[in-house]
Amino acid sequence: MKTIFLAGGAGYIGSHTAVELLNAGYEVVVADNYSNSSPEAIRRVEQITGKSVKLYEADIRDNAKLKEIFRENKIDAVIHFAGLKAVGESVKKPVMYYRNNIDTTLSLLEVMAEFDVRNIIFSSSATVYGESNPVPYLETMQRGVCTNPYGWTKAMMEQIFEDAAKADENLSVILLRYFNPIGAHPSGMIGEDPRGIPNNLMPYITQVAVGKRDHLTIFGKDYPTPDGTCMRDYIHVVDLAKGHVKAVDYILEHSGVEVFNLGTGRPYSVTEIVNAFEQVNGVPVPHEYGARREGDLPQFFANADKALKLLGWKTELSLEDMCRDSWNWQKKNPNGYRNSD
Ligand code: NAD
Ligand code: UDP
Repeated sequence: MKTIFLAGGAGYIGSHTAVELLNAGYEVVVADNYSNSSPEAIRRVEQITGKSVKLYEADIRDNAKLKEIFRENKIDAVIHFAGLKAVGESVKKPVMYYRNNIDTTLSLLEVMAEFDVRNIIFSSSATVYGESNPVPYLETMQRGVCTNPYGWTKAMMEQIFEDAAKADENLSVILLRYFNPIGAHPSGMIGEDPRGIPNNLMPYITQVAVGKRDHLTIFGKDYPTPDGTCMRDYIHVVDLAKGHVKAVDYILEHSGVEVFNLGTGRPYSVTEIVNAFEQVNGVPVPHEYGARREGDLPQFFANADKALKLLGWKTELSLEDMCRDSWNWQKKNPNGYRNSD
């Protein structure tokens, strides 16, 4: 049985990926410093799957600790989720973002080389397409000019991985560019658990719906889109997690560097998301329209043909599923994992 190491695996996307990897028959080892997560997420992954996960509390920048993990486990592939991801915070604390995100990557690459682990899959983002590429985004497009330090960390890490793979023909890399993951596992046992005021749309909507926040502000109504609000390619986190399983299957059989967009290819506007959420769940989401948020692009979405062609992956879940599962998680866990720690 192959063993997959999830760096930052207790987080939102990592925990859902752990479930799908375990269901597909992989062994899973997770390390996380819980800077934005809780070990409870992994306990619940074990409950959902009936399988166990080897869990380490560790900072991925800590080479000594990483070596201990690599010594104790025969790792076949790494998935690198460990990173800080709040765009606004990255503008205020750029050095913290560069330090954390770049250093985790460098430490992983160093320790992988030492232990002859040759496969790594990286959580990149559609943000690397920058401001001026036309939509839909295609993997063959150049990385663009990013609008914030978070985005730059992703673009820089992609470059680091490409350079490392160029220098070492034994190293295989898959860069997964996620679009906008929302939703939660249908059990409602794991989901997105933001700390403080959510930055992202869906957690904000669910917190308004559950009564934790007064109303949603929709940022901008004068964009060049059909209803004037921004459009994004929202993807169910379970579909995204399954994309990682396909990427693992692929990297274990192929060498080199590949980039894949993981999105649906179908954008929805903010207003469409709010309306769908209210309709599917029968709950009101009080909202008002406000000013544009700095740095937001009017619309972007994926061309996901390459993932279908090479990985045999495409999304299966609908916007209805995304809205229902986000609400199910929020209702069952109004305070996220906090009451369970
Ligand atoms: P998350 O914050 O839930 O997960 C990241 C995990 O990494 C957390 O559990 C955090 O505690 C951990 N972590 C951070 N720094 C660490 C360190 N130095 N050592 C050990 N653990 C550390 O975020 P997520 O939404 O699951 O995102 C996972 C990855 O995907 C991130 O790299 C993120 O930038 C990327 N991504 C996310 C989105 C999104 O919208 N959620 C979109 C594109 C890319
Ligand atoms: N958005 C909004 N109100 C909020 C949070 C987000 O109108 O409180 C909008 C935001 O302007 C963007 C979309 O929702 O058009 C998705 O934002 P999110 O931060 O979730 O993702 P990203 O900006 O990374 O695409």
